[in-house]
Amino acid sequence: MNGAPLTLFNSFSRSLEPFAPAQGDVARVYSCGPTVYNYAHLGNLRAYVFTDTLRRTLAFKGLGVRHVINITDVGHLTSDADAGEDKMELAAAGLGKDIWEVAAFYTAAFKRNLADLNVLDPTLWSVATDHIADMIAFAGKIAPDHCYEIDSGLYFDVTTVPDYGRLARAVSEEGESRIDPVTGKRNAADFAIWRRSPQGEQRQMEWDSPWGRGAPGWHLECSVMSLKYLGPEPFDIHTGGIDHREIHHPNEIAQNQAYCGCTDATPGFTGARFWMHNNFLVDRQGKMSKSAGGFTTLQSLIDAGVHPLAYRLLCLSAHYRSELEFSTEAVLAALTRLKRLVLTVERLPLASVDSGADAPAAIRLYLDRLDAGLSDDLNTPVALTALDDLLADKSLSPEDRRAGLERFDAALGLNLLRITRPELRLRPATASPTEAEIEASLDERQQARAARDFARSDAIRDSLFAQGVEVMDGDPLRWDWRIALD
Ligand code: AMP
Ligand code: ZN
Repeated sequence: MNGAPLTLFNSFSRSLEPFAPAQGDVARVYSCGPTVYNYAHLGNLRAYVFTDTLRRTLAFKGLGVRHVINITDVGHLTSDADAGEDKMELAAAGLGKDIWEVAAFYTAAFKRNLADLNVLDPTLWSVATDHIADMIAFAGKIAPDHCYEIDSGLYFDVTTVPDYGRLARAVSEEGESRIDPVTGKRNAADFAIWRRSPQGEQRQMEWDSPWGRGAPGWHLECSVMSLKYLGPEPFDIHTGGIDHREIHHPNEIAQNQAYCGCTDATPGFTGARFWMHNNFLVDRQGKMSKSAGGFTTLQSLIDAGVHPLAYRLLCLSAHYRSELEFSTEAVLAALTRLKRLVLTVERLPLASVDSGADAPAAIRLYLDRLDAGLSDDLNTPVALTALDDLLADKSLSPEDRRAGLERFDAALGLNLLRITRPELRLRPATASPTEAEIEASLDERQQARAARDFARSDAIRDSLFAQGVEVMDGDPLRWDWRIALD
């Protein structure tokens, strides 16, 4: 591994730990993916900007990365604990749509969001419903010693594994008292491995199993797919949002322990070596959540004229383990910061540099700061300050700054070398007049000013203003106009 020692915060030990892959130079990473019953909200997307930062950091350190993200298209109930209804079934019924169409539609929307955020594709997308046979085989293996059957299906008895809930540090019973407690469970924290379809009810998604016709529990899929593609011996890093630290991941760990025959003699076994969690994106009402309605999607930002990488920059401006408050002002401030960066970059000469070549000595200092920041548990705010300083350092040749920028772009994914100023213009999708019309008026105004016809020039500015376009003479960022956001 290159550069500074890499330390990552392991939620399992609640401490920073030195990281190196268990096997060779390839880190194996599993990220809990979205439940595709609706658009991802900005909070969900923070989770994938975080995993992308992790992935890019590992690559920056010279490691290969095998990264799996799953798509949850079955089993996730309205409560993370085992209660309520399947989110997918509920959404499909509400929309009056075929559940498979709903899943395909929101999966595609999610992948578009990631592309807009310049999040790298994982090595493997792993879809839950493609793994039903694997899940049944896994469940069959753990059932005799760890599970019991009741009317509603096959349940995992959490007292059969050592130290259940250690990751959460407290057994959470969230949801159990609020929504349909399941009758017949031995312990409140026991969870469904297989949910039998209720008598007389047909689910859109259901399969035959030794425990009757039904569908797998949500936690099962992540154990099955992570161990199938990255295990069965402990893989390197498992990620998710901090809500998963409380229920979903402790349940995965319990299943992994059961599957791998872990006993009291091996209490540290969890299936993964590091468990990493991003903190929440919150708004003034609290944690953003899809199911609560009133969420903000990335597309809604784009439609309002905000470049999606401004949202990425906003995420990077906070450490992933801190809460981040979302507001229009915050994302507009990030957009302004992005514009400044792009403006500076556009002034650099175009000649591309060989990014494979050794970094010129003059920029070593900045790359060391980038390395020190990222190696310190992905400290992106520190990395961003190093980027600002690199771009501001007039003692460097433009070529050197560009060479540095290639590395910062690869590590932070801001795409500063590709996006252009016009793309960053605040331009709501619904805004009128069109961009061409604005440009034509501005040309005309330019001519009026050149002819010292200031009355005409002011009239054009006022007319644009009446149409919601603010002309900004002398804008230090040299954006000539913008459309005001509410
Ligand atoms: P879901 O689609 O609900 O399974 O969630 C996808 C990912 O987003 C999971 O890793 C969640 O932990 C994460 N997540 C959900 N809400 C938020 C939020 N407000 N801020 C950050 N991450 C979140
Ligand atoms: Zn998961």
